[in-house]
Amino acid sequence: MTDFEGEIKKTLLRQAGDEFKANSAFSDATLLKLDAFFGEKVLNGALELLDKHGKDVVTQLEFGSRSIWVVKGASKGSTHNVLPKSGFCPCAAFRANKTFNCKHVVVAELATSMNLAVKIKVDSKENFVSKLVDCVIETS
Ligand SMILES: [Zn+2]
Repeated sequence: MTDFEGEIKKTLLRQAGDEFKANSAFSDATLLKLDAFFGEKVLNGALELLDKHGKDVVTQLEFGSRSIWVVKGASKGSTHNVLPKSGFCPCAAFRANKTFNCKHVVVAELATSMNLAVKIKVDSKENFVSKLVDCVIETS
């Protein structure tokens, strides 16, 4: 992924999230745009995760300027730790694509811009690690 491509995709997802906050729905034009940039498989996968987990789909853990998104996956108890700044996800789909495309990154950006992500701020590296472990273990 080039930085430029990533920025365009992030902007698209944030605009879509803002639209959803304002209208409680995505317009057809927005869905077509998202489909064109991310592909049907990734977009549908992301929307399914949003549908399935709702407000619990993403937990955003923050410690100072560091943050991580813990994203719930499709199979029961699975989670993926996504890095917000780089848009990195350790899943197989992310590794297979050379671009931003994986449903976890897409749903994390969307949920965050829709104000759906659960935010947890911690005050030390130890608490950051401890909360991260909690997030991953809780859903297993
Ligand atoms: Zn992923």
